[in-house]
Amino acid sequence: MSKRVVQIGVQEVAARVREAREAEREWARRAASERAGVMRGVRAAFLDAAEAIVDATARETGKPRAEAWLGDFIPNVDLFGYWIKEAPRLQRPERVWLNPINFPRKRATIELVPRGVVALITPWNYPVSIPLRTIVPALLAGNAVVWKPSEVAPEVAGLVADTFEKGGLPRGLLTTVMGEGDVGDAVVRAEVDHVVFTGGLATGRLVVRAAAERMTSCSLELGGKDAAIVLDDANLDRAIPGVAWGAFTNAGQNCAGIERVFVTREVSKKFIDGLVAYTATLKSGSDVGALTTDRQFEIVKAHVADAVERGGKVRVGGKPGRGKREFEPTVLTDVARDAKVFTDETFGPVVPVEVVETADEAVRRANEAGYGLTASLWTADEAGAVKRARVLECGVVSVNNHAFTGAVPSLPWTGVKGSGHGITNSKYAFFELTRPKTLLVDRLGAAREPWWFPYGSRAEALGKAMVEVMRHGPSRVPGLLGAFASRWKETE
Ligand code: NDP
Repeated sequence: MSKRVVQIGVQEVAARVREAREAEREWARRAASERAGVMRGVRAAFLDAAEAIVDATARETGKPRAEAWLGDFIPNVDLFGYWIKEAPRLQRPERVWLNPINFPRKRATIELVPRGVVALITPWNYPVSIPLRTIVPALLAGNAVVWKPSEVAPEVAGLVADTFEKGGLPRGLLTTVMGEGDVGDAVVRAEVDHVVFTGGLATGRLVVRAAAERMTSCSLELGGKDAAIVLDDANLDRAIPGVAWGAFTNAGQNCAGIERVFVTREVSKKFIDGLVAYTATLKSGSDVGALTTDRQFEIVKAHVADAVERGGKVRVGGKPGRGKREFEPTVLTDVARDAKVFTDETFGPVVPVEVVETADEAVRRANEAGYGLTASLWTADEAGAVKRARVLECGVVSVNNHAFTGAVPSLPWTGVKGSGHGITNSKYAFFELTRPKTLLVDRLGAAREPWWFPYGSRAEALGKAMVEVMRHGPSRVPGLLGAFASRWKETE
C-alpha cells in the first residue's frame, strides 16, 4: 500500500494548505512550458503504474477490470497529452485591441494566471479519472492542489499521488489529505482560493455554504438523472446495447448513467423486449460489477422496492446477485411517475422505461428531473435531434450514443439544475482554474487624459457629441468635436 495513504486530522489541514501555498509561489513563476515539461515526467510515471492503479481501482470499487482500464485509466493518457499541449497555449498573453482614438498609445494584454491553492474533493465512483481531470490542468496552470479523495478508495488515491512524486513534481504542489467528510469540510474552510467538488447534491450544498463563508469560488459537479430518448426511427440494433451500456456501466454508479428511458409507442414493444433480452445476457462480475458501498446497495434495493410497490413491473433483474453487493441489472416498466427511480438519483444498475406518445412528450418528461447532466437521443433524424438537443435542459446531449464525452478532454463536461454548475475538461474548465489578469501599459506621455481632473465643460460637450454621432451620423456635429467623434465612430 502507498505510503501516502495516511489519514490526517482536521487540525492538520491548515498546515497542509500553508505548505501548498509556499510551493505554489515558486511553481507559478515558472514558464508554462517548464511546467509542461514536468508533467511529461508525471505522465510517464502514470503509464508505468498502469497495472497497479487498475488493480487497486478494481479491488477498491468492485468494478470489473475492463471498466477500470476503460473508464479510469485509458482516458487519462489522452488527458495528460491534451493538457500538456493546451495549457501553455491558453496561458500565452493575449493582446487586446483598444480603440486608438479613445485610448491612444495604450497597450492591453490579458494573461490567465493561477488561482493559487485549489481544493479538490472527489467521490469514489471513478477514483482515477475524476481527480486527474482537475489535478492535471490545475497544476499546469501554476496552481497547487490540496486533494481530499473519497475514503472509499484510499489506495488508488495514494498510487495516483505517488505518480506525481515519482514523475518529478516538486514537493507540496499536490497534497493528499485523507479522511472523511469532516476533512473535506476543513479543506473547504481553509485558506484555499478555489474549490472543485464532485459528489452528491446534498454534500454539494454543504460545500457551497462553507465556501461562501470565506467567499471562495466553487465549481460543483453533482449527480444526475440522465434520460435516454428512443424515437420511432431509432436503429434498435444500436440503441439497445447503447442504452444498456449507458444504464449499467460501472454498475450504474455513474453521474451520467441512464436512469430514465422514454421510448415512443410505435417502437416501444420491440425496444423493451430487446432491452430485456439483452440485459439478461450481461454477465455479473465481468460485465456488471458489484456496488461499491453498502449504502449504495441499500439505496438500490429501496428504489426497486418502491417502484414495485407503486405498480412497477420488473422485466429482468430486480434482485441482489450472487456476489457480495451485486445487484442484477434491472429493467422496470409501468412505473409510477413519482416513484423514486424517476425522481431521485439511484446510482445503481436499474432503469425504468416509460412509453410516451411523441418525441415532444419525451423531451418534456426528460426535462422534469431536478438534475440536468447529460441526455441522449436515439434516432435516424439528425436534424430533428439537433433541434431537440437545444431544448433538453442539460450540459451534454449525445445523439446515438451516451455520455462517453466525459472522457474526451477537449469537450466541456457540465450540467444544470441539481447537477451543479462546474465545468471539467476543455478550455472552459481551464478558465475556472485560472483568472484573467489585465495588464495595461500607457505610452502616451501627455500631461493628462480627457477624463482626468479638472473636468470643465469640455468633457460634457465631448460626451454629448459622441452620442449625437452615434445616433445620427457625423454631419450633425460641426467643428473639431464632430471630427473627433466621427473618427472615434469609424474605429468602432
Ligand atoms: P458524496 O457527496 O457523499 O462525497 C463526495 C466527497 O465529498 C467525498 O470525498 C466525501 O468524503 C466528501 N465529503 C463528505 N462530506 C463533506 C463535507 N461536509 N464537506 C466537504 N466534503 C465532504 O458523494 P459520493 O462519494 O457518494 O459520490 C457519488 C456522487 O457523486 C453521486 O451523486 C454522483 O452522481 C456524483 N458524481 C458526479 C459527477 C459529475 O461529474 N457531475 C461524477 C461522478 C460522481 P467521504 O466520502 O470520504 O466521507
